[in-house]
Amino acid sequence: MALIRQTARASAALAAGLMLGLGLGSPGMTALGQRETPQRSNPQERTLDANLFVQTSAEYVACCLQAYAWAGERLRQRLAAAPPSELPPAVIMDLDETVLDNAGFQSFLDRESKPYEQAAWDRWEREFPTETRLVPGAKGFIEAAEQAGVTVFYISNRVLPEPTIAALRHNGLSVENIGERLLLRTDGSDKTARRKAVEEKRRVLLYVGDNLRDFSEIFMTPELKPDDAIAARRALVERHAYRFGADWIILPNPVYGEWKTPLGKEPRRFLRPTKME
Ligand SMILES: [Mg+2]
Repeated sequence: MALIRQTARASAALAAGLMLGLGLGSPGMTALGQRETPQRSNPQERTLDANLFVQTSAEYVACCLQAYAWAGERLRQRLAAAPPSELPPAVIMDLDETVLDNAGFQSFLDRESKPYEQAAWDRWEREFPTETRLVPGAKGFIEAAEQAGVTVFYISNRVLPEPTIAALRHNGLSVENIGERLLLRTDGSDKTARRKAVEEKRRVLLYVGDNLRDFSEIFMTPELKPDDAIAARRALVERHAYRFGADWIILPNPVYGEWKTPLGKEPRRFLRPTKME
């Protein structure tokens, strides 16, 4: 990446200057003979625009409101179409970046120039539930579902019930019977078994998430060459187009997610080639 290359060049220049012990005009030295501070590489540089899109753009808010407005409409439609003898109705929602906004955690990584680390996330999850906010539109949708007698289940890969409940409570969401409605990660990130457990006792009208694996494990990045993995996931979405906006409602997450898995450390090579010079 350009940033890494620039930083490497700056570091090499500084090292050369130090080794030679030269003064004015030497590489790594300012015109006044002071040592330049080497630019610290920030692994979050790559994610800056995505973070700003989520944290500052009105377009992000509009995308979320649009998704939740349609989710509400689909809920009404599917509820009206449900045979009365069926299992009681429910919706399944992911939490992070679907209901809960964790922008503060991303700001922490950026400020500290840190890559994503599980230990840092665990600390965010455990100690900062009151710094979470709501994804726009989520609360209105959840409250409308509850008022319509639809049980809202949260299937999340968070691991700590108490701080997660604290985050829901902090954001003014109902935590009534939350022990039954909150299915956290106990064994891997695959949500299939937890979805099935809900589907066995409820008629699930809608699934809401920001990651395709919130809907089905078929979207897990396949063990193929990265280009093939990317193409395979996109083809799978096209094959399941009839579900999106029907009973699968997806929220935008440009910051992180399964989509980043195949990109590796040289993401620029995946940009579409062009003949334009
Ligand atoms: Mg999520």
